[in-house]
Amino acid sequence: MRKVRVLIIGSGPSGLTAALYSARAQLSTVVITGMQFGGQIATTHDVDNFPGFPDGVQGPDLTDKMRLQAERFGAEMVYDIVTEIDFAGGSPFRVKTQNEEFLADSVIVTIGASPRRLNVPGENEFIGRGVSWCATCDGFFFRGKDILVVGGGDSALQEAIFLTKFASTVTIVHRRDELRASVALQSRALNHEKIRFIYDTVIDEIKGENGLVKGAVLRNLKTGAVEEKPTDGVFIFIGYTPNSAVFNGQLKTDPAGYVIVDNRMATNIDGVFAGGEIHDDVFRQAITASGQGAAAALMAVNWIGEREGLGLLQPIEEPATVPAGS
Ligand code: NAP
Repeated sequence: MRKVRVLIIGSGPSGLTAALYSARAQLSTVVITGMQFGGQIATTHDVDNFPGFPDGVQGPDLTDKMRLQAERFGAEMVYDIVTEIDFAGGSPFRVKTQNEEFLADSVIVTIGASPRRLNVPGENEFIGRGVSWCATCDGFFFRGKDILVVGGGDSALQEAIFLTKFASTVTIVHRRDELRASVALQSRALNHEKIRFIYDTVIDEIKGENGLVKGAVLRNLKTGAVEEKPTDGVFIFIGYTPNSAVFNGQLKTDPAGYVIVDNRMATNIDGVFAGGEIHDDVFRQAITASGQGAAAALMAVNWIGEREGLGLLQPIEEPATVPAGS
């Protein structure tokens, strides 16, 4: 069992920023990265709206820079997933991963959210064989192909625009006749020569041949008309579900599963803080997640300081040095 002052669950912008603040406050800090290091932003190609990068930055580059900055102050990345958490006994909190067990004075939860599924026949069967939730990862395999993108929000339109780099045509299938995406993205997508729209329509089934997607059954919600549309790929961008299941009811959530925090990023458990998309279903930007991670870490640092003042902390080895020029 390893003792740490601050354990951060999740390695997206929120977790990596929390790690920077916590480590720079000279507290031993471990980040449990989860399966997808960097979180959702690491699967995003061009990030144009993170300040400090006038020419934009690639998602994986951004998270790598954040990691390096946090590591410079002594934060440790543990490439593992959390399997069990015990918050009931209070601080120090027990957190088990697949390979280790931690005892942490404070925990910062930045475990984010996962892309939603359509839950239609064929979706699971053709994962990695034409069905995808990541244009950055899979777009390259669709050079010269015709693909469908599902959704009408910012993600669907942004990723559809990106996919035009590879595909011959990108057809956006949206369940309403009005898009949710920002006006700027709408105007880029609506004016793009490779992008088409099918409105008021859902996908009922994804079909394939020889293990690869070859078509999708579309149903018009207004007319009831059903057609089978040939396609080589289906990219799904229909929103996200918070990854709160691992907390097994120990953290208070809203009905949708988002962890509830107060205006100091504190959860219902004293010493457990949260930031990023695990609690924020409104802003959902890399920069807001980073800000919330910084705020959560500042509160964790204060909280630990108060407990230290009360003589409630067990001694552990803290990071020895802070680099020069910091
Ligand atoms: P979103 O805004 O929740 O949009 C989800 C889209 O999927 C909506 O159009 C929704 O339809 C549709 N949808 C939901 N469930 C569906 C289902 N079962 N079947 C078919 N369609 C379904 O999600 P998002 O686009 O991923 O964006 C999430 C957040 O990140 C937003 O706040 C967004 O602004 C932000 N974001 C920003 C940027 C950027 O700034 N460049 C880029 C990406 C995301 P309805 O419209 O009918 O509800």
